[in-house]
Amino acid sequence: MSKRDYYETLGVNRDASEDDIKKAYRKLAMKHHPDRNPDSKEAEDKFKEAKEAYEVLSDGNKRAQYDQFGHAGMEGAAGGGQGYGNFADAFSDIFGDIFGGGGGRQRSNVYRGADLRYNLEISLEEAARGTETKIRIPTMEECEPCHGTGAKPGTEASTCSMCGGHGQVRMQQGFFSIQQTCPTCHGSGKTISNPCSACQGAGRLKQHKTLSVKIPSGVDEGDRIRLAAEGEHGINGGPAGDLYVMIHLKQHAIFKRDNDDLHCEMPVSFTTAALGGDIEIPTLDGHAKIKVDAETQNGKVFRLRGKGIKGVRSQQHGDLYCHVVVETPVNLNARQKELLQELETISQGQDNNPRAKGWMDRVKDFFGQ
Ligand SMILES: [Zn+2]
Ligand SMILES: [Zn+2]
Repeated sequence: MSKRDYYETLGVNRDASEDDIKKAYRKLAMKHHPDRNPDSKEAEDKFKEAKEAYEVLSDGNKRAQYDQFGHAGMEGAAGGGQGYGNFADAFSDIFGDIFGGGGGRQRSNVYRGADLRYNLEISLEEAARGTETKIRIPTMEECEPCHGTGAKPGTEASTCSMCGGHGQVRMQQGFFSIQQTCPTCHGSGKTISNPCSACQGAGRLKQHKTLSVKIPSGVDEGDRIRLAAEGEHGINGGPAGDLYVMIHLKQHAIFKRDNDDLHCEMPVSFTTAALGGDIEIPTLDGHAKIKVDAETQNGKVFRLRGKGIKGVRSQQHGDLYCHVVVETPVNLNARQKELLQELETISQGQDNNPRAKGWMDRVKDFFGQ
């Protein structure tokens, strides 16, 4: 599941001004607002998508981070539940006009459930091939016995007498009249005289649920998968939050990942490096043979095209880079040492180590100055 680019979501250029971003968002938010599109899942998703893009691009720091790192840079940005009311400041004027004061007032008791975040650790192979896994998450679910009303089954919550069900009360302070959340019902507009015994009147219960998560092939460290409406339940019938599954990759014994490319070390014996030979190396989907030429030097890199990972966004295969590490032999026995000594002796005056010789010449020049 690839995530749309935030700029693309809002339909603005990457160098769009704050004002352009705000305007573009307003347009989308008005078009897809849940109040105007009741029961449309598509509109709700589009609305949330636009909201998320706006939250990032309207914040200078977050925008800079997104520009640099893309969605991977947005780790943690999902934290914290946001009610519809929290971001409405940019719109209060507009929504007030469109949806009418009365309707807007009622909505103030309705909150979207909090977004949840789940850290999921998977292996490199699972990330490369994609996988499906089950996760168990704690969540606030609607209380079943009372169907979320908080009232003892068979009884009903009554309208709060303090605020008349509005959830807000007006207080006179000097010349000013201030609107406040009702202290009696805490904004719900209802009072419960016989609370439900299962949830003590909260209407919600902490529970666990098991979800099946499809991990698309090619995901990388820091990618997140959004499960719409799998976060916490909303309050007073508000929409549920989203669940964000953050991908973390376990360390691999052989490969290191760099975007879609893989890197590995390939230790080569001193004699194979000198004489050449074939070396078998593992790849994510089997084996490959690498022909090491005679006189191969330490640090040489072999590139195996297409043996990396098919990226979830790029949809292209990366490459596998094998870095040659020439290993100096250890635990030599007497006979081996003797042969190496002999090799050293007959190498005198031969041009077998041009790099060492060149370096020595430069050292001599340096001291000769
Ligand atoms: Zn009240
Ligand atoms: Zn209950």
